[in-house]
Amino acid sequence: MYAFEETPKQFRICSNCGRPMPRSATGDLCSSCKDAMLYREVKEYLLHHEVTELELAEHFNIPLQQVRSWISDGRIDYKPRS
Ligand SMILES: [Zn+2]
Repeated sequence: MYAFEETPKQFRICSNCGRPMPRSATGDLCSSCKDAMLYREVKEYLLHHEVTELELAEHFNIPLQQVRSWISDGRIDYKPRS
């Protein structure tokens, strides 16, 4: 018995990590690569801007909850305005 290494048509391949992703995915990246990329952009942005959590979420069009989870995980260095 041989296993066929066939990529079903309903899958696409992430251009960054090569993992299959659903055809419904937008862009060329899987969700975890997109997250990683977004995270890098956010970090870069925070180096040059002083914004609130909400402004950050709005700027990147991401859920506030996502921003907060990055902060609580210590993944982003966030300095709240006093
Ligand atoms: Zn990927």
